[in-house]
Amino acid sequence: MEANIANIQHFSVGDGAGIRTTVFFKGCNLRCPWCHNPEAIPAAPITLRYPEKSEICGRRMRDEEILADILEDAEFYAASGGGVTFSGGEVLLQAEAAARLARQLKALGISLWIDTAGCVPADAIDALLPLAEAWLFDYKSADELRLRDICGAELSRIEENLTRLLSAGADVHLRIPLIPGFNTGEGDLRAIGARLQRLGIRRAELLAFHRLGVSKYDALGLPYPYRDIPPQTPEELSRIRQVLEEYVQISIEP
Ligand code: SF4
Repeated sequence: MEANIANIQHFSVGDGAGIRTTVFFKGCNLRCPWCHNPEAIPAAPITLRYPEKSEICGRRMRDEEILADILEDAEFYAASGGGVTFSGGEVLLQAEAAARLARQLKALGISLWIDTAGCVPADAIDALLPLAEAWLFDYKSADELRLRDICGAELSRIEENLTRLLSAGADVHLRIPLIPGFNTGEGDLRAIGARLQRLGIRRAELLAFHRLGVSKYDALGLPYPYRDIPPQTPEELSRIRQVLEEYVQISIEP
């Protein structure tokens, strides 16, 4: 049994509680132009050509290989309250493989978090629901047309899946990536806040904009439309927070 994997990253500290190993599943059904993992979007292997070296991203790995890699850091999970996060790409496009691996992690007592954009069939959510300890769920916009035209995402499907998780009592950590010109205008923020409030979300985490993926776009020979867009200043983040806090409790990822 195999899964299509882009990368396995050890000692992740931004993908859930404690020290975690993040497994990046390869392939995504969305096309966010700010994506900082563009090499994980196509399901097929892809070559990144850096000035000093080239590397191929993407390979089919056997379940045993993935688990052996994960288990290298088992002692750190126990000591830090960490575990494993399945991310991507969109991990839930490989729900069967993810659930298979998740069952093994559960049997070993290792915590699993799922990082998803939520635009997936409901049965993919159902397959992981009993196996995941918590969910990192991205909510990018409440503007149905903009979300569809710019990211190729379906708002109704995302919200149905979010509701599905909440109704099942899942531990959902909602995250809003702050993208200049896409979702940070006051009207966009208020629309997001009002929508989240209606969905029953009480807390959300803001992910400040960054350009850490720029070298990957260069290595892939792809244009990066956010090359000259600066990260948000502390004042801008504070403005965004203030608007959203009228609707939900907000924290900002450091
Ligand atoms: S959903 Fe995530 S992985 Fe997929 S394109 Fe958007 S930012 Fe990239």
